[in-house]
Amino acid sequence: MLRAIAGSVLIAVSLWVFVLGLRAARTRKLAILGLMPASCSLGAFVWTALGQELDIVVRTAQGLTALTIGLAQAVGFSLVALPAERVWLRMVFVPVVLWAGTFAALWFVLPEHGVGLQIALAVFGALTLTAWIMLPFYGKDRGFVERNNRRLPSVRFACPRCGTRVDWTQGVAACTDCGLFMHLHWPADEAQAKRAEDAVAPPPPVERAVRFACPACNEVEEWPRGDNACSHCGLKLSIYWNTHVKKP
Ligand SMILES: [Zn+2]
Ligand SMILES: [Zn+2]
Repeated sequence: MLRAIAGSVLIAVSLWVFVLGLRAARTRKLAILGLMPASCSLGAFVWTALGQELDIVVRTAQGLTALTIGLAQAVGFSLVALPAERVWLRMVFVPVVLWAGTFAALWFVLPEHGVGLQIALAVFGALTLTAWIMLPFYGKDRGFVERNNRRLPSVRFACPRCGTRVDWTQGVAACTDCGLFMHLHWPADEAQAKRAEDAVAPPPPVERAVRFACPACNEVEEWPRGDNACSHCGLKLSIYWNTHVKKP
């Protein structure tokens, strides 16, 4: 019973990660893939909770949970913010967590554990742990990005095109993963006043806004594409990105 509850909690957390993954273009397929073992293992846990403690069902449920957790971590590591010069770490982290999940699944499902499986699980388990230890260090939101020994103020939000979380710097910045250009200016009092004066037609309204903490007052706001002002402190902020380029 306790095992079923613990398993269901882990699955619930994974489902939440998959829902986030579904919203990002780059992890949509991975998240859909993850929903399959997640729903199957949830069913198996419910079945065992109803008193059907069949060994094979319990082991299958645990194996599917391990696979689910591996896939949820892969979605997470694909979307977390990493410095531009460290995005290659995804190429290491994502396969590592997937393999760790697979070997853990085999561990639960197979009745006997050979030396090879034990070593593989130990190695990939240790690598997964290393990835988690490194993550807070590299993924920390410092409020600035260091470039050529200069600290450029930055704000963090999900890329409107690929969904990866990125620290966008003031001025023109590119997505660390898909290269989308973001034009981000604050305070933009002068530029906005000039645009209003010149009566430049505002860009067509877009269906998406991005959400991030105001760089001046730290209150989280919705910022639609275009000229904005913070509803809390009045900071003028302009944000533009191209929307006509769509990834297939
Ligand atoms: Zn992107
Ligand atoms: Zn503000």
